[in-house]
Amino acid sequence: MARLHEYQAKALLAKHGFIVPRGGAASTPEKAGEIAKSLGCPVVVKIQAWTTGRKAMGGVVFADNPEKVVEESKRLLSMTVGNFPVTEVLVEELVAIEQELFVSLALDDAARAPVILLSLAGGSGIEERAGDVNRLACDPKAGPDDVQLKTLIAASSVKAELQDAVASAVRGVFEVAKTYEARSLEINPLVTTTDGRVIAADCRMTIDDYAVFRHPELGIEIARELDHPPAALERLAYDIEQADHRGTFYFAQLNTKADDGSKGLVGFHGAGGGGSMMSMDAIMSEGFTIANFTDTSGNPSAAKVYRAARIILSQPGLVGYFGSGSGVASQEQFWSAYGLAKAFWELELSIPSVIRLGGNSEDRAVDVLKDACADLPGKVEGYRKDDTPRTISQRFAALVSESSAEPWSPRAPRTPAFVGSGASFPINGGTVWIDTAGCDAYAARLAVEHSSGLLKDDGGVPVLAVSEQDAAGKDSEFIACEVELRRAGKPVVYVELDVPGLEEVLDCAVTIGGGN
Ligand code: GDP
Ligand code: MN
Repeated sequence: MARLHEYQAKALLAKHGFIVPRGGAASTPEKAGEIAKSLGCPVVVKIQAWTTGRKAMGGVVFADNPEKVVEESKRLLSMTVGNFPVTEVLVEELVAIEQELFVSLALDDAARAPVILLSLAGGSGIEERAGDVNRLACDPKAGPDDVQLKTLIAASSVKAELQDAVASAVRGVFEVAKTYEARSLEINPLVTTTDGRVIAADCRMTIDDYAVFRHPELGIEIARELDHPPAALERLAYDIEQADHRGTFYFAQLNTKADDGSKGLVGFHGAGGGGSMMSMDAIMSEGFTIANFTDTSGNPSAAKVYRAARIILSQPGLVGYFGSGSGVASQEQFWSAYGLAKAFWELELSIPSVIRLGGNSEDRAVDVLKDACADLPGKVEGYRKDDTPRTISQRFAALVSESSAEPWSPRAPRTPAFVGSGASFPINGGTVWIDTAGCDAYAARLAVEHSSGLLKDDGGVPVLAVSEQDAAGKDSEFIACEVELRRAGKPVVYVELDVPGLEEVLDCAVTIGGGN
């Protein structure tokens, strides 16, 4: 779920006819002071953090003058909520509250419809409001029932002259939630003021992750709920996911250091939700610390799995690479094997790796991995569905303990010598290179054989058999060809694939002496 800050949510409310307090967000105490000055005091200053009860934790303060705003903002901007440092405060005119109401909309999964909770109990303070909450089932298209809404409000302590405005606000919550495909929208409090207005004094809103792409106007960078601000690698991973809709790729960075007493930091690569969780449990029970959680599933392309592995292996300090998923996947497992084998070869994987490629075509997948990684300094072992996460976790632990490899240091990929001098053609997100000089008749024949019909033999050299346009989307097929040729000892095809932004991240992160 993508979460909006209070001020972002309020901007959407205002656009849809709500009255919200005048104000602005600031990321420095000085800016907060300036906003207070231009608004005129008194003001209220609130940390912009995704939590309830900011007031109770000292994150909401009232100020009579701009100097106090500056002073308090210093404190507020040094607060941390969960793993999130507070980076912004919202400075708003203080409104004269008469009654605090509350309205929230959520999607009720059981009812498969939005439900509005509405409290009209009055008074100020949550304690007084909590007692009397009404539930309004909504029609997914039309919203709450007007008659039910009017009846509720008419029976409440809301002043007669403000009842229409409160009803509009409730309908407004439904409309705004519908417009932006919110999963939840809460205004707490919705206030009536002594000067006879109905104002949204606070607002929290989450947008359905799968709807975020339809709402670029929201400026949401990562449509996922993280328990920390997005790390550089998470941003890259998200971009990869956005650029390639074949299967899904999820990457969350969890630890940059192993826990005390841990057997070490592990790059984790799951495939399929439930199986991934089980596998992660197994490897953690074995005494390892997970550096990241990754899932590539839903028939991911070899290119996507390759890029996922590149991201995972951009984390320093790993003692091993552990891949394990559902075990009974219906997707052809060898595509994942090709992606992994390519990444491991390019990075000359030096740490041990255990990969469980259970499911459809698992034998071929395991063979691909085994052959293609045979010459790597790190031991790479492939397993099948009958090998349980527990068994392979134990095997992984044994490999790590007998390995003398240094903890992983991220590095740039190696490329074959013919990159730059061989024949080449572009594909989406990269370039295919062919070692024309190093080719013999046998290599050419093999290349054609493993090219899914994309290459043909042109006098002992493989050349494109289709138009460049038709070849452009065949990154996974070319990766398969590259890996198969390497297996056969005739590596005359190489796919150069971009991982946009990764070089910059590595440049910042690689420790002196790392890489090769
Ligand atoms: P929360 O604690 O995170 O929910 O933050 P809110 O923005 O809801 O503020 C908490 C409480 O502070 C509200 O319930 C109000 O009682 C009070 N408050 C917030 N803004 C104002 C305001 O403009 N005027 C007055 N009088 N009280 C406010
Ligand atoms: Mn609130």
